Amino acid sequence: AKSNGRGRVCVFEVGMNAEQDRCRELERELHGAIAAGGLSLLFQPLFRPDGDLVCFEALLRWTHMVHGAISPAEFIPLAESSELIVPIGAWVLQTACQEAVAWPCDQRVAVNISAVQLLSEDFVTTVSQALSTTGLAPERLELEVTESVLIENTDQTLTVLSALRALGLRLVLDDFGTGYSSLSYLHRFRFDKLKLDRSFVQRLDTDEDARTIVRAMISMSKDLGLEVTAEGVETPAQLAALRELGCDELQGFLLGRPMPKSRIRMLIMRHHTA
Ligand code: C2E
Ligand code: CA
Ligand code: CA
Ligand code: CA
Repeated sequence: AKSNGRGRVCVFEVGMNAEQDRCRELERELHGAIAAGGLSLLFQPLFRPDGDLVCFEALLRWTHMVHGAISPAEFIPLAESSELIVPIGAWVLQTACQEAVAWPCDQRVAVNISAVQLLSEDFVTTVSQALSTTGLAPERLELEVTESVLIENTDQTLTVLSALRALGLRLVLDDFGTGYSSLSYLHRFRFDKLKLDRSFVQRLDTDEDARTIVRAMISMSKDLGLEVTAEGVETPAQLAALRELGCDELQGFLLGRPMPKSRIRMLIMRHHTA
């Protein structure tokens, strides 16, 4: 099986020809999708505990002519193994920045960046061009990277992350808690914010230990001067627990689903008249 640390990847094994064929076919078609307009972005809102709408995370969608909507969990690993993630990621950055500039208020926009992309040649230039061509203020852009990026090629990663910080944008460690020795990374790399993985949030409902772990993660983050976001908030009980534990930002289906850009303006307006 071929894996790149993201979990869900096409399985290349003897006797899995159908799966392999589907991967090859999708990879070829993904190539054409950027130019053909088959890619789009949804935006999921992030709120402060007091209800302020502070950010939207851009989430990529691929609508295939035959197969319909294909999940990023399926095609991002494909795009990563073929390096297609580099042009696709550049498109996401450009489109997300362009979108955010048009919002009526100054919410931030968060963009997911995969390891391959971060370590690709000219990535910092790509980001700085997205900012300069759209005119988005750098402090309104957040880049979300996962722990997997921190274990490969450490020196280069350090260089790239500090160059990005120098542009004035914000760095977020995504899926926090799911990786390897998370704590040592926090010490070495400078982030503005941690995003607690959904798996911890889910367990808050039923598991007393989960609460203890989340409390410890939040208190440690605060001591390190980091903000904390929780993703995957689905129930009122989870929301109440995260508020009580002092989470800075909240995101999840309970508060808002990923939505097309056409609905953002309305959501923002509603929040500012409420
Ligand atoms: P992620 O960065 O952890 O993003 C959160 C995922 O959880 C999104 O799935 C979102 O729709 C989903 N989600 C949000 N709230 C809830 C909730 O309350 N409950 C549940 N069960 N799920 C929730 P999505 O959009 O399918 O994206 C999956 C993953 O694909 C993302 O995980 C991210 O790693 C990756 N991805 C998405 N867009 C991009 C992109 O533009 N570039 C890169 N490199 N990766 C992307
Ligand atoms: Ca974020
Ligand atoms: Ca994310
Ligand atoms: Ca996640």
